[in-house]
Amino acid sequence: MGETFHTFRNWARNQSATPAEVRAPSCAEEVSRAVRDAVAAGRRVRMTGTGHSFSPVALTDGLLLRPDALTGIRAAGDGWVTAEAGTTIGALNRELHRMGLALANMGDIDAQTVAGAVQTGTHGTGRDVGGMADQVLALEMVLADGEIVTVRGDGEGRIRGVAERDLFDAARVSLGALGVVTAVTFRVEPAFLLHSVRRPMTLTAILGALDTLVTGNEHLDFFWMPHTDACLIKRNNRSPGPPRPPGALKHWFDNQFMENTLFGALCGVGGRHPGTIPRLNALSAAMLSTSAYIDASYRIFTSVREVRFLEMEYAISREHLGRALHEIRDLLERRDWKISFPVEVRVTPASDAWLSTAYGRDSAYLACHVYRPTPNPAYFEGVEEIMTRLGGRPHWGKLHTRDASYLAGVYPRFEDFLVVRDALDPGRAFANDHLDTVLG
Ligand SMILES: Cc1cc2nc3c(=O)[nH]c(=O)nc-3n(C[C@H](O)[C@H](O)[C@H](O)COP(=O)(O)OP(=O)(O)OC[C@H]3O[C@@H](n4cnc5c(N)ncnc54)[C@H](O)[C@@H]3O)c2cc1C
Repeated sequence: MGETFHTFRNWARNQSATPAEVRAPSCAEEVSRAVRDAVAAGRRVRMTGTGHSFSPVALTDGLLLRPDALTGIRAAGDGWVTAEAGTTIGALNRELHRMGLALANMGDIDAQTVAGAVQTGTHGTGRDVGGMADQVLALEMVLADGEIVTVRGDGEGRIRGVAERDLFDAARVSLGALGVVTAVTFRVEPAFLLHSVRRPMTLTAILGALDTLVTGNEHLDFFWMPHTDACLIKRNNRSPGPPRPPGALKHWFDNQFMENTLFGALCGVGGRHPGTIPRLNALSAAMLSTSAYIDASYRIFTSVREVRFLEMEYAISREHLGRALHEIRDLLERRDWKISFPVEVRVTPASDAWLSTAYGRDSAYLACHVYRPTPNPAYFEGVEEIMTRLGGRPHWGKLHTRDASYLAGVYPRFEDFLVVRDALDPGRAFANDHLDTVLG
């Protein structure tokens, strides 16, 4: 078990901490020993993923457990696979593909660990299949006293007095507050192809056809360029094939050059000369083009993101999506902000994980981004006011200003979650300052 001392920094470089101790356990038993050692020394414990959360959710001044040595596929069977907690989604995707299997849905990058993604309710877009936590069948966890337990969705036991099924619904999205996850069992299916069609469309046209677009596509995602009426709309639907992947040059042009190199350069110019942003956005909008591919699902779902940004994302009831978009568009027209990053819109079906942002309701997600060197707190604050007025739930891994009193009002099972937390971690071995704010 590696033992080092250093500063932890997240991907966006807006959060950092210097833990008292860092370890990189390679199995559940090593995690168990680390947790027992930390509790005996009076230290709090966090396991991190790859640091892709924008919020301070992963920070600790106590013992930080790194994911690097806890990786790989541990076991697989009929329709399921168990991955070590620190396995990245990308590594899992590639291994599943080799086995002729795939996850049914995921977010739009693959750099996160499976445990980190599940714990914060990471999601992609889907009419029928929800986020990462909705594809989990079981979790292996180390509790505060070092015991290693497996919690199954169909389990009938009790753990620390909590019915296993309740614990399963509480633990899938739990921000590391109930224990250290050491392995995740996912439901998987035979590998499949997606037909991905991307094309420019106006926000006005999208708003006019919102319901049809959502119900008519398995995976609908669109990006609206502020200060314009332009959107790039992505529709991904299953295809019998044959595969028609983008050529290497086209793939590089769309994914590397347009979405990273050129976009990064435009953000840099906009950051130095904010007055040019509306014209730069109009230029980007004019360069949007139509493309269509058929490729392995995981290659269509995920992209590379090299331009560093800060993000806030809220989930609202799907029926409020049109109103929220109208209000955000009006807000940007009224205020003098210059926003270079697109607003992203996705949907998911209702989830049964108690702290999933989609718990109990078909959901729509609106994500606001700003270029990392030029944050704009007033923009986030303005959008957050709209989203909270609509009963929105902030993504647990992204920036927001909500505390436990607000969150208790928008999560029907929030109090039940706190009861489970008291049963599993009465001494708050897995707390940090951020959890004190959002969970109380
Ligand atoms: C470029 C970029 C793109 C993104 N795209 C999406 C997207 O498409 N959809 C979306 O929903 N989100 C997205 N996110 C957010 C991201 O998916 C989440 O913040 C996710 O939690 C990050 O995973 P991670 O492995 O980096 O975990 P970290 O950020 O390191 O940790 C997240 C939380 O999980 C806990 N945790 C990690 N491992 C364990 C463990 N083994 N046991 C217990 N707790 C653990 C940590 O303590 C922390 O509370 C994106 C973020 C970035 C930077």
